[in-house]
Amino acid sequence: MSSPDPITSPDCLFCRIVAGELPSTVVARRERTVAFQDIDPQAPMHVLVVPRDHYGDVAQLAASAPDVLAEVVSLAQEVATSEADGQFRLVFNTGTEAGQSVFHAHAHVIGGAALGWTPA
Ligand code: 5GP
Ligand code: ZN
Repeated sequence: MSSPDPITSPDCLFCRIVAGELPSTVVARRERTVAFQDIDPQAPMHVLVVPRDHYGDVAQLAASAPDVLAEVVSLAQEVATSEADGQFRLVFNTGTEAGQSVFHAHAHVIGGAALGWTPA
């Protein structure tokens, strides 16, 4: 039996990174998720965890594939343990006003230092 075709969006930056069409520094991979370094880190640890399949934001991911969302959170925990001290902030910017610029669901895994709190 072959695996089902992945859900992709042709012009999506993170779909292209997941497919290996664009370079990234991958730190961990699971069956349905990938973790790679953010190109513009905002903290000593700043990793993005994405579903391999395309969902526009975390709300769509939660509604369509809650098991994959659980894998995103679990992989974030694993990355925080390997890249920092296991403590982390998980951020899902959802909508342009919230700062979302890439419309493929992704978790920012941020840590490696004492973090401030200045979202606005
Ligand atoms: P958002 O603003 O959508 O919450 O987060 C998008 C994140 O993707 C930003 O933190 C940005 O630095 C990161 N980013 C944008 N383009 C690239 C890229 O080509 N490669 C990587 N690794 N990260 C990117
Ligand atoms: Zn995508």
